[in-house]
Amino acid sequence: MRLEGLVQHEFPLTTGYLLDRMRTVNGDSTCTSVRGDGSRTSESYRELGARADRLGHALRSLGVRETERVATYLWNCQEHLELYLAIPSYGAVLHTLNLRLSADELTYIVDHAEDRVVFVDGSLIPAVREFAHRLRSVRYWVVVGAGDGSGLPGTVLRYEELLAAAPDTPFDWPALDDRAAAALCYTSGTTGRPKGVLYSHRSTLLHALGACAADSLGTCAADRALIVVPMFHANAWGLPYASALAGADVVLPGRAVDAAAIARLIESERITLACAVPTIWHDLLRYAEEHRPDLSSLRMVACGGAAVPRSLMQELEERHNVPIIQVWGMTETSPLATIAHPPSRAQGEQRWAYRGMAGKLLPFVQARIVDERGAQLPWDGETDGELQVRGPWIAAGYFREPDGAEKFQDGWLRTGDVAAISRDGWVRITDRAKDVIKSGGEWISSVAVENELVGHPAVREAAVIAMPDERWTERPLACVVVEPEAELDGRRLTEWLRPRITKWWLPDEYAFVPAIPRTSTGKLDKKKLRALLADGGLARGERTLPPIRTPTAEEN
Ligand code: ADP
Repeated sequence: MRLEGLVQHEFPLTTGYLLDRMRTVNGDSTCTSVRGDGSRTSESYRELGARADRLGHALRSLGVRETERVATYLWNCQEHLELYLAIPSYGAVLHTLNLRLSADELTYIVDHAEDRVVFVDGSLIPAVREFAHRLRSVRYWVVVGAGDGSGLPGTVLRYEELLAAAPDTPFDWPALDDRAAAALCYTSGTTGRPKGVLYSHRSTLLHALGACAADSLGTCAADRALIVVPMFHANAWGLPYASALAGADVVLPGRAVDAAAIARLIESERITLACAVPTIWHDLLRYAEEHRPDLSSLRMVACGGAAVPRSLMQELEERHNVPIIQVWGMTETSPLATIAHPPSRAQGEQRWAYRGMAGKLLPFVQARIVDERGAQLPWDGETDGELQVRGPWIAAGYFREPDGAEKFQDGWLRTGDVAAISRDGWVRITDRAKDVIKSGGEWISSVAVENELVGHPAVREAAVIAMPDERWTERPLACVVVEPEAELDGRRLTEWLRPRITKWWLPDEYAFVPAIPRTSTGKLDKKKLRALLADGGLARGERTLPPIRTPTAEEN
């Protein structure tokens, strides 16, 4: 029985509400967009709202129906933000395509999603031509900016012409159920065939609110947020929606995300909040050492998508006053799930210990760790097992993917990450299950070894993978990129590591490589490294062999 006088819990949490908020209370906030020629344009949220109205009319003129998927193949730019708001508010599903995927992968994904309309940046048309003729569902290509779309199969339209032709009247946005689908994002495929994660309006809005919480990204009206992470990568970590909700100004860097461009934007746009994967901040650190840009406006940099080495955080903070806060999440978790703001009780060295972890669970996100048989493990900060999570913005399945069932267990998402959780609910990621190195029946954390390796001043990048070993099943091989002009060998690296990690974790071999392959979302591509190793394509440098023996109990 429901009691009388209950609050308005039917109020829908939809992107339509975000649009309304952008037009009204956040109308004076701005979106600044870096264009292909390097120039910048700036528009108020009020104007963005008006343009979204025109887009609503345009989507109707194209015959888009509710729940139909509409794709974007765009850089981070103002038009992308407009589409982020208009497509779901219209009742269709925003499907962001990963610009770094191959033609085959994109063909699979677009076909699987059955996208009918694709919004494409003019500069990306040559890439689209490679697979456009193979697509079964696409009827319209809408070109953003300049670029010759002739010859693309289907009807080719121009974004600005489409908007100009639309009535200059408010669009009658439908009243949507907030459990309806809003956005679709495919996992980048580090883990096999891409799978679609389907977000609802409710999950998107709750996640955006989560990103506004003070102990999270704390997105607020005083922020100028630089969204470096691509808008195709897990909804740019929710920052576009969080900014719309909070009224933070957003700055969208377009295609230039090299360290110099990012530093220039931080400096000239007085950026307060930014987010990107660790590689970007590694590059920025190196750039800052040489060029000393003014990065003092930054109040927080959210960094995740891969383990964030402590050395990176410490150097950026102590030498350049850039506070990096680690986050952990996945496409399946919208993505924010943990964030590492240390509690007041942690001081000095202990603060860094907290900062080095993936972080504390965000509000509404629950976690557990389980062993191989599915039994729950204790939260003692030591015992590690598979991390499983659940919550209102965590995936419950995959879009049209009956085979995806093994990723879910009794309402929990099996993350595929190995982690330990402390008594106070802090998550420490040891590894991805498939990257863990199994040696003599025990696990070696490749992440822990990498973090120590990149702390060496002459190491630019490092990835540690398993190599088959007759006696121990697997042993660690460290692939290392040495800083230009630095000299390094395996013996010196072993000396560096010896006091820092458990003895039997020391790599058996080092491969000095010119670069580490990256995935489409900028992560170390260990799958590719393992394939190179199997094909004999890794020039394994030296054997630096400390005698190997079975780990003793106290070393474990
Ligand atoms: P993909 O699975 O295709 O790489 P995601 O971006 O969804 O795409 O990747 C999520 C994975 O990234 C997580 O499961 C985890 O392995 C890794 N990850 C994300 N953040 C962190 C972090 N702070 N520390 C360690 N690993 C992380």
